[in-house]
Amino acid sequence: MVGSFDPFCPCLYLDGDYVPSAGGERIPVLNPSTLETVGHRTRSTAQEIDQSVAAARRAQKEWAGLDAKSRARHLHQLADRIEKNPFHDVAKLITLEMGKPYPEAEGELANCGPIFRYFAELARHDEGHVAGSTHPHTLEYMRQYPYGVSVHIVPFNFPIILMVWTVAASLAAGNAVLIKPAEATTLSTLKFMEYFSLLPKGLVACLPGDGRVGQQLIEHGGTDVVAFTGGVETGRRVAMSCAAHMKPCVIEAGGSDPLIVSKNCDLDVAVPAAVTAAFHLSGQICVSTERFYVEDTVHDEFVRRFVAATQKLRIGDGLGKNEIGPLVSEAARTRVMELVQQAVTEGATLACGGKIPENCGKGWFYEPTLLTGVTPDMSILKEESFGPVASIIRVQDFEEALCLANDSDFGLGACVFTANLEEAMTAADRLEAGMVWINNPMPDNDALPFGGWKNSGLGRSLGKFGLDSFRQTKMVFMDYKPDVQDWWYPYADDWFYGAKGRQQN
Ligand code: NDP
Repeated sequence: MVGSFDPFCPCLYLDGDYVPSAGGERIPVLNPSTLETVGHRTRSTAQEIDQSVAAARRAQKEWAGLDAKSRARHLHQLADRIEKNPFHDVAKLITLEMGKPYPEAEGELANCGPIFRYFAELARHDEGHVAGSTHPHTLEYMRQYPYGVSVHIVPFNFPIILMVWTVAASLAAGNAVLIKPAEATTLSTLKFMEYFSLLPKGLVACLPGDGRVGQQLIEHGGTDVVAFTGGVETGRRVAMSCAAHMKPCVIEAGGSDPLIVSKNCDLDVAVPAAVTAAFHLSGQICVSTERFYVEDTVHDEFVRRFVAATQKLRIGDGLGKNEIGPLVSEAARTRVMELVQQAVTEGATLACGGKIPENCGKGWFYEPTLLTGVTPDMSILKEESFGPVASIIRVQDFEEALCLANDSDFGLGACVFTANLEEAMTAADRLEAGMVWINNPMPDNDALPFGGWKNSGLGRSLGKFGLDSFRQTKMVFMDYKPDVQDWWYPYADDWFYGAKGRQQN
């Protein structure tokens, strides 16, 4: 039975239990709403990393040796355990350490069980492929095998579900997993490890720490494949380290999603969707909409309604009745404020927001902010703000909206509001993004690939692509009626250059 988790006792999760940190680092975790200390975290040492890798390699051999049906049974039991629990402790810790409104933290956790079930069955469904043969009496096929030990580097915004997306796939494929949580969400991630105590010891470990721990895990000789979710620049560094060690990786990086508002849409639907897409989780979602391209004929009405709906949002502590919580850190808020200031200096207009709200105490809050008069050259459109800021760009027609939406180095998601079928289909085809939403932004589907084009990522999570990210192929060619082949040594004399009947210049 796993020991109980104490957020004030800095620890890691190793060999199926919580282990006090040997390094002795004790870093206070602050609640971004109140700046009160809600626990302590630590940084895993090199020795603890070695120990976790060794335990993972041991456990993985047995795990991979199980038949697919037995592995699936373990993962269903894990899902049962997750679904039986009300999540209150983990959800509350998410809210306390990163500020997410509590209902969203519970919602995140409620989606975890089905992912384990999905990958458990997907891995059972198919372990390879038999090809049409190229020779008589042969069986020519491909089988898929686990890599060994996978590393999972996780961001703070959806600390549990994004971890589960790749961890469930990797376990189902037969790997052991080592998790490096975001520093900001170390406590909730560690608390969630209790569920994994059902699995064989050593198969799952959680190693808290900063980017250095992430790098040590990537570079470690005992790890084989890496799943990273986070910002573009960190993703680039992770991909380069993986390349240097010839390790495959999935990079789920950031975005600056566009949303097109066609003159043919229903504003009664488009406006509340737009407000949610821009400000959900204070804009700290990889697929938050940051750029709104609005057709001229509906622009003013759209802005008027957008401002009115935004001003009704309640800002405050995630444990209270509020839609908008704080930003994760002071640095994140400062960055957002600087981007907004820069946009105003470049000529944008503040339609609402743009300040630290009054009456919210000393937490890292920022008002949901709407900028109008934004033009394609402005710097705010070139970066991911990852905050509660929406930029509105007025366009003459749908074609201009499509072109400007694609004029970005990011390519994660994109959204369109229209009731016109031709516009919907054209946008679905032409938008340069890994996910396109028509009239309903942001949902994902366990059975469909999630990931970005352009700088927004490499590889995919979820769906069959998500499983295949954690298994490697082997081509097998079996001749069940062996015979000497005519192309084997020695070559026949009449095969050589100049032999009778062969070309000779
Ligand atoms: P970061 O890129 O700052 O960090 C992500 C993870 O990488 C953290 O665990 C971080 O640790 C770790 N890390 C930092 N430096 C290194 C390094 N050199 N080597 C290895 N690991 C490192 O992202 P955030 O946590 O701030 O998350 C926000 C970003 O994530 C946004 O850009 C967002 O768009 C993106 N994202 C993308 C998603 C997608 O599916 N495409 C989904 C969700 C978010 P530490 O916490 O210690 O810094």
